Amino acid sequence: MKVRSFIWKCLHNIVPLNVNLFQRKMPVYRMCPKCGNEPESVDHMLFHCEQAVRVWLLSAFRFRPEEMQIARFEEVWNNLGHVIKVNVDGAFDKAKGRGGVGVVLRDDKGEVLQMYSIPIHWAHSAEMVEALEFKLAVEEMQRCEGSAFVLEGDAQRVIRMLQQKNQCSANLEVIISDVLVLLRRFSACFF
Ligand SMILES: [Zn+2]
Repeated sequence: MKVRSFIWKCLHNIVPLNVNLFQRKMPVYRMCPKCGNEPESVDHMLFHCEQAVRVWLLSAFRFRPEEMQIARFEEVWNNLGHVIKVNVDGAFDKAKGRGGVGVVLRDDKGEVLQMYSIPIHWAHSAEMVEALEFKLAVEEMQRCEGSAFVLEGDAQRVIRMLQQKNQCSANLEVIISDVLVLLRRFSACFF
């Protein structure tokens, strides 16, 4: 209930933040008390403040607001009404250098929107198959209406590469870059 009321206040912009208090002629400093870089607004508090960015990174969502082009809280919240959940998985046969990947997209009620699997005729590692899982997933996401996604998979190393591109191993750089470019089209994608 507390969270609900907080969200309601955010949507109506009545959280007692410095920007709002200042507009009501209260004797406060408009800037964010945590970083001092920008006025303390709802969007700053939730997405742009360096402290918010750190919290998001440490949370289960682990996303970077600045990379996902999150503009406004209202926009994100409206999109969350129809979040699409995407599950990816893959298999790799090391001896044959072959594998396969599968993607399932579900709506917020759990109904399957799309299911897709493709064989991988050649891959040099399980990690490459995992990176291809994500590429297939974001390609499928383009075909779905909606712009907020929760992408789930157990490929932790690939997820880390997507979050911090500098951690990317050289032979996967092309695939990871493709995924990141495709991800920019969505307003929010949580891993
Ligand atoms: Zn701040």
